[in-house]
Formats: sequence, structure tokens, C-alpha cells
Amino acid sequence: MTRSLQADYLVVGAGASGMAFTDALIDNADVRVAVVDRRHSVGGHWLDAYPFVRLHQASAFYGVASTPLGGKVQAHGPEAGLHERANVSEICAYYAHILGDRMLESGRVEFFANCEYDSARQIVSRISGERIDVSPGCRIVDARYLAPDIPATTPPPFDVTDDARVIPVNDLARLSEAPGQYVIVGSGKTATDACIWLLAHGVDAAAICWVRPREPWMLNRAVVQPDPAVVLGMAADTMEAAAAATSLAELFLRLEDAGIMLRIDRTVMPTMARTPTLAGWELEQLRTIEHVVRLGHVRRVERGRVTLEHGEVAITRDALVVHCAASGLKTPPRVPIWSPSTITLQPIRAGFPCFGAALAGYVEATRRDEEEKNRLCPPTPYGNSLAGWANMTLLGARATASFGAEPDIKAWADGVALNPARVPPEYVRSAELENTLSRLQTGLPTGLARLAELSQSG
Ligand SMILES: Cc1cc2nc3c(=O)[nH]c(=O)nc-3n(C[C@H](O)[C@H](O)[C@H](O)COP(=O)(O)OP(=O)(O)OC[C@H]3O[C@@H](n4cnc5c(N)ncnc54)[C@H](O)[C@@H]3O)c2cc1C
Repeated sequence: MTRSLQADYLVVGAGASGMAFTDALIDNADVRVAVVDRRHSVGGHWLDAYPFVRLHQASAFYGVASTPLGGKVQAHGPEAGLHERANVSEICAYYAHILGDRMLESGRVEFFANCEYDSARQIVSRISGERIDVSPGCRIVDARYLAPDIPATTPPPFDVTDDARVIPVNDLARLSEAPGQYVIVGSGKTATDACIWLLAHGVDAAAICWVRPREPWMLNRAVVQPDPAVVLGMAADTMEAAAAATSLAELFLRLEDAGIMLRIDRTVMPTMARTPTLAGWELEQLRTIEHVVRLGHVRRVERGRVTLEHGEVAITRDALVVHCAASGLKTPPRVPIWSPSTITLQPIRAGFPCFGAALAGYVEATRRDEEEKNRLCPPTPYGNSLAGWANMTLLGARATASFGAEPDIKAWADGVALNPARVPPEYVRSAELENTLSRLQTGLPTGLARLAELSQSG
């Protein structure tokens, strides 16, 4: 006989989004929640991440609302003075702790590991084959709408001939013999991590060929810190740059002058703006790699040669091609978070998926009317192009004004470290912060109006 699920909610996906939503929901409502994941544990893509990955942002901005993942300032190393960033082991251990000691311990959360949720409203064990019916009254939460593709589980987006050596980035740490050349394929955070890891292991910059299909803008990590004076200063500078910009290119150049945006090669104008954060020391290292191929996306890799959209390039016959080209940040169409059938988790404030999912959990717990929930929490897409970044910033600011106008949500959001732009109640307000807040207040209307125009111009 098929078992029936006894729960008010079924959260599909136990990654950062599903965990943040569940945590905030059970903290603010007396409900039973089932969480299902086809992976063997909680933590989502981090369970298959490359071993040398760290969060690109401060740990304080990541995880669930009830329990900080970290909050210390680094005392040593190249990022001394900046907030700590958890590595993959710390992230997986954190989520296991949240599941065991908090969610399961509450008696109100059940976790179904190694199980698939299918379109027939059933949970199916990938191990035993057991099927569990999900009753019509159980609300489905889609916590995988923006789940990233990662190289470990996504084949390279190009043809590979039998005689070529192509590995996912994870396998770099398992090499037994050094090749004559490393060919890094990708323009995002994973590719930058791979380059920096190789350089840190003594690989000569001249032995690295970096295929960058698009040139990326990145955010300066120093201005995305869990400190209101820093992060609100960045927001005020962004609005001033936007208000004065006559084009998207000028906007990004102004942001670069303001120390907010970084680009690896100052002679090339980037077209990609997914904007992971990068530190100054990483930028310096990346600039030592001079063999950069900018001929578009890779089409085919064979021994001794890479064929791209706009040409081909010779590589050594023993070259090792490193696949860092999975689509980390997804940009499917925005959909309302609350629909009659499903709650579809998406960022609300620009970026910061954990804060968005936690906020959706809080709003779900404290409000009944779906139209009102959607009005308060419109979703914000991730940026990809320069226009997409302007649109993300605009929609994120509008969403923040919308949920921030509700006193209880504002009070909740100010108490949650995941919220990058909060001013915590206990924070001592300096004259500098007051000045920053007033600059932001003055700059917002014209900055947003200009962002609205620029986001249509790309
Ligand atoms: C390398 C890397 C570094 C990053 N660093 C940061 C950072 O520093 N800060 C930040 O804010 N963001 C960062 N991000 C982005 C952020 O981690 C992700 O956007 C976020 O963690 C994604 O979480 P998720 O829950 O949406 O997806 P996932 O972690 O992919 O979780 C979705 C889960 O759903 C499960 N699933 C899917 N379909 C089904 C189904 N039918 N049945 C059962 N289970 C299913 C999958 O198995 C998966 O475990 C990073 C991303 C990457 C790739």
C-alpha cells in the first residue's frame, strides 16, 4: 500500500533556498514540513562542489535566519579585515547541523533523502523504490527553480573528441601528474577559483591558457561586507553613479571608479555582469595570466586544438582542459512566488538567495492573502548582461521598499544577518552612517529612474 505524507508543506530541494525557507517558516508558524532531495543529504549543490571552493561572499550572508554560519572578521591572510567566508566542508557541516539539531529535533520537520519528487505528486525513493503520496492539501514549495548547474554534474557544453583530456574542475585536486598546459574554460567564479588555486600550487602563469567566452564584471568584496556603513555606502555610490550615467557602459565605468566593480583586463569592456565578489589580491593574481582567449564559446575540444565560435586556438598535445563552464546562476523567467499550486522561491532583494528564501518563509508564516504576499515580495532575477544587472538592481530596490514598508517585516529583516542592508537594532549609528543614509535617500529616486531607462537600453 502507498503511504500518504502527513505535512502542511512539501519543500522540494534541500539546498540553501529550501533550508532557509523551512527554517524561517517553522520559527514563525506551527506547521509540519517535509523536505525532499534526490541527493543523500541537505546542502544542495555544495555536496558536489569542488574541494577548494569557498563562499564568494561573507558567511554572514549565507545559510538560515535562525543560526549564523559565521560572523568573524579575518585576522590574517590576504583578506585580513574582511569577514570570513566558509569553505565547502564548513557549509555542508552547517547544513547537517541545522537539519539534525534544529529541524528534526523540533519534531515538525521530516527529511526524505535520496528521493525524487515527481509530477504525479509522489515522493519516490531512489533507493528502495517506495512511493509516498502527497495529499492535495499539502502546499508544494519549489526550492529548485534557480538551482545552479555545476561542472561536477553537468557535462561540458562543447564536443570533446576521444583523444582530448577534459576534466570537471573538481578533478583538479585529484591529479597525479602535471600536464604541460592547463586550459581553463569559463568566465565566472568557478574559473577564477581554478586559476587562483593553480597559481597557489606553484603553476607558472604562462602554463595557463584561460578561455573567457565573455569578459566579466565582478563586485569588489571589500564593499559587500556585513557592516551597514560599508554596504549602504556602496548602495549610495551605486545610485549616484546610476543617476549620472548616460549609458550602461558609463554606469559600470563609474562603478569601477567608485571601487565597486572590478574587471580583470582594464583594456576590455566586459559584457557579462553576474557579478560574483572578488578580492583585490585575487584580481592581482588573475592579471598575471596573459594567455587569454576571447573567441566566444567553445564548440569543440580535440587533442592540440580548441575550436570556438569565432576561431580556433592551438593548445599543447598534453593540455588538460578544465571545465568551469556550467551555468551557475540561472535566469529563467520570473514567476510570482505565490501561485495557487506552488510557492516558487526566488531572490527578493537583489541577489542574496538565502535572504529571499527566508523572507518568503517569514511572510508565508505571517500572512494569509496570496495577492498581498506577492505584492510585498516580488521576485528579482539574477543579472547576466549589463542591462540585466541594472534591472536586477532596480527590481531589488523596489522589492526592498515594498516589504520594508511593513513594520513587522522590517523588524524581522533588521534582526537577520542574511539581510545585507540591515541596520541591526544594537548598531551604534555613527555620523558617517547617518551621512550615508541621507546620501542614499537623496540618490534613490534619480538613481532608480535612470536604472529603469538603462535596463531597457541593453
Ligand atoms: C560555486 C558557487 C558558489 C556560490 N557562492 C555563493 C555565495 O557566496 N553567496 C551566495 O549568496 N550565493 C552563492 N552561490 C549561489 C548560491 O549558492 C546558490 O544560488 C544557492 O545556494 C542555490 O541554492 P538552491 O537551494 O537554489 O539550489 P541547490 O543547492 O542546487 O539545491 C536544489 C536541490 O534540489 C534538489 N532537487 C531538484 N529537483 C528535485 C526533485 N525533483 N526531487 C528531489 N530533489 C530535487 C537537488 O538535488 C538540489 O540538491 C554560489 C553558487 C555556486 C555554484
